[in-house]
Amino acid sequence: MVRILSEVKIGKKSLSKYEKFIKADLRRKIIAESGKLKGTSIIHINSTASGGGVAELLQSQIPLERGLGINSHWLVINGDKEDMFFTITKKIHNLLQGEKGILTENEKKLYIRHNKKAFSEIKKILKKIKPDIVVIHDPQPLPLVDAIPRGIKVAFRLHIDVSSPNVRTLNFIKPLITKFDRLVVSNPLYRPEWFPKEKTDMIYPAIDPLLPKNKILPTDSVRRLAEKYGINPDEKIISQVSRFDPWKDPVGVIKAFNIARKKIPGLKLILMGSVADDDPESKEIYAEVKDFSNDDPDITLITENDDMFVNVVQSVSKVVLQKSLREGFGLTVTEAMWKGKAVIGGDTTGISSQIEDGKNGILVSSVKEAGEAILKLLNNPKLTRKMGVAARKTVQEKFLTPVMVLHHLKLYSKLLK
Ligand code: UDP
Repeated sequence: MVRILSEVKIGKKSLSKYEKFIKADLRRKIIAESGKLKGTSIIHINSTASGGGVAELLQSQIPLERGLGINSHWLVINGDKEDMFFTITKKIHNLLQGEKGILTENEKKLYIRHNKKAFSEIKKILKKIKPDIVVIHDPQPLPLVDAIPRGIKVAFRLHIDVSSPNVRTLNFIKPLITKFDRLVVSNPLYRPEWFPKEKTDMIYPAIDPLLPKNKILPTDSVRRLAEKYGINPDEKIISQVSRFDPWKDPVGVIKAFNIARKKIPGLKLILMGSVADDDPESKEIYAEVKDFSNDDPDITLITENDDMFVNVVQSVSKVVLQKSLREGFGLTVTEAMWKGKAVIGGDTTGISSQIEDGKNGILVSSVKEAGEAILKLLNNPKLTRKMGVAARKTVQEKFLTPVMVLHHLKLYSKLLK
């Protein structure tokens, strides 16, 4: 029998590893909060172990929780053979972010049915692990809440921007969301007005400075690695690292690049986006982008899934773009800011919680503004450097894994009260 749920085996990471990145006060708070939770068992459930922001968060959050004495586990809901489940859940994701359309009755049924098929599996797992808390991430495994007995506390961690949703779709999943003891969102604006405020927590996502993707590499290593990956580090490169997804507006990035390169000869663009298991739409969008770029020798499209490659692309870039039209948070923005880059970000709720326009990056609302921002930054290296320094400081203070874990520890304590 093909399993619908799989457990991701994951080790422990000690808080001491983060010492040089965090202040003593934060360290003290984390130790104090985790002390109250020693031996607590938690299961996180999402839909992929690699690719996309949620997997990125969990692969750091869970080991650190384990390192703090919490018995955290990670389960993933797999798709079906025909990829119908993830096609539907991607549609749900898009509708919740405000896309027009409706979910057909058949799609609703398949979504629920696929989750129901996993009920007997989850029940066995619950018996084995005996969790105190289950955290369900995003809509894919949401219907599993019905398989979790009372007595186990449940939190729904919604990572997407539902501030202007397709109301019918949000109403479809509303009866499931209201079953949760607490809701966690990445921005206060993402709480549906019918979910009680006092049961909602706002936790910013974060990046892990210890991961290969986020390690600050010395200039000579960046050069050496860039050459290994076939990138000429002496070129004037701008980039966007992001899934091939309409909300990330890769075509808009090419259009902005086309504006800027008229005034900056030799400018190069890298668009990097691996294809995630739970995102069948990305192949289609990639084909569209490839078509639009028309084999332009100054545009490089990369689909490799390689964290060090992501690091190198962000590090060699003179300017990094994340021209999203809708963004729940935007870890790619955090990653580039951490590397001291001035990021040009789409003026979305998620990105504007990281970029303060003109101070640690630039917010844009159109292709034209993005093109102008590229020119402004490339023509003012001093300003770009200043914004880059401010960007790194923002991430250091607000968006590193230990801060996020501290907020989760507080969430777990609230759930168990
Ligand atoms: N990512 C990656 N390779 C790619 C594209 C994206 O490793 O080719 C990673 C990226 O570095 C980031 C995550 O996937 O860590 C994307 O998170 P984000 O919040 O920016 O967007 P999401 O994909 O969750 O919408």
